[in-house]
Amino acid sequence: MASLSLEHICKAYPNGFEAVKDFSLEIADKEFIIFVGPSGCGKSTTLRMIAGLEEITSGTLKIGDRVVNDVEPKDRDIAMVFQNYALYPHMTVYDNMAFGLKLRKVPKDQIDKMVKEAAKILDLEKLLDRKPKALSGGQRQRVAMGRAIVRDPKVFLMDEPLSNLDAKLRVQMRIEIAKLHERLGATIIYVTHDQTEAMTLGTRIVVMKDGVVQQVDTPQNLYNNPNNLFVAGFIGSPQMNFMDADVHEKAGDIYLKVGSHDIKLPPAKAKKVKDGGYVGKTVVLGIRPEDVHDSQMFIESSPETVVDATIRVYELLGAEVFLYFDVENFPMTARVDPRTTARTGDKVRFALDAEKIHVFDKETELTVT
Ligand code: ATP
Repeated sequence: MASLSLEHICKAYPNGFEAVKDFSLEIADKEFIIFVGPSGCGKSTTLRMIAGLEEITSGTLKIGDRVVNDVEPKDRDIAMVFQNYALYPHMTVYDNMAFGLKLRKVPKDQIDKMVKEAAKILDLEKLLDRKPKALSGGQRQRVAMGRAIVRDPKVFLMDEPLSNLDAKLRVQMRIEIAKLHERLGATIIYVTHDQTEAMTLGTRIVVMKDGVVQQVDTPQNLYNNPNNLFVAGFIGSPQMNFMDADVHEKAGDIYLKVGSHDIKLPPAKAKKVKDGGYVGKTVVLGIRPEDVHDSQMFIESSPETVVDATIRVYELLGAEVFLYFDVENFPMTARVDPRTTARTGDKVRFALDAEKIHVFDKETELTVT
């Protein structure tokens, strides 16, 4: 298996559009790297440059120690799995998996061994004689994976491999892919729109926007310590709540004023806001839905972060309840215990978990604390 190194990679399409700007990343052997970001942010373009399907405009791409900018896709020792599987409809599962090896003139008995090994890993042994049309979506997806596995590549590239599957199958296949990663000890680069896939599969996640890398970090760090407002809003569902707030100082403490509400910052956060020169300025206050509490006990222990609101929508999801309301015209969501008594139309008090408050610069959108 292999490490990869992307050094200042740029992609400008012939029409002049810059789809990827100065992308640098070191990927260690056996990492599971996820590219996420809104539609059109350059995820697939980056993946296709790594695969060799798209020319690199500038910058250096290394697989292991070898610069591969000008190496043909077939000589890069990578395998790509696409969202539409691209199986040959007239061939059996066995032949679909064997095809690439036959082209490379691998001896027949060796092909047989490799295909059967991959079939065993992917639980396809009983389906080897079937044609793709006689398979379920998940089984087809496994065949597409099998075709990549038999090539024993250094790197797997996967472009939204689960996007054509229904919700239940996606969950199953997500677990399969996690197991596969462990079993193969492979380096995987994976493009997805799906938050859960990104958070559960990735050893690190690359968040992109408009061709620019916003943050590269472990799922946990991205969630807890986003670099900027965009990453904070993009990672997490329902998304982080944001409110404009005026910073002021009172008796040595730092408060964020949102309309008639005054929210006191804990000392470490207050220091960063004060030292950053934000007193007297407007910032953006961010708080995740699970850090907005409606329990009496929490409210009583946090009188300095209380907000009042009227519930617009009550949504029961079984294990949790989402409450939607406005604070001074800023739409908010709280993720609370299903035993809550709050219902649509009720006037409710909430308290923010002060230690979980994020503060962003309103101009640069960078994280202050
Ligand atoms: P999605 O999630 O929708 O697949 P993506 O992040 O994978 O999006 P890319 O497919 O990498 O996005 O495209 C990045 C940008 O480059 C888009 O704005 C797209 O319109 C543009 N683009 C892609 N291919 C070309 C091309 N051949 N010529 C010009 N622009 C292109």
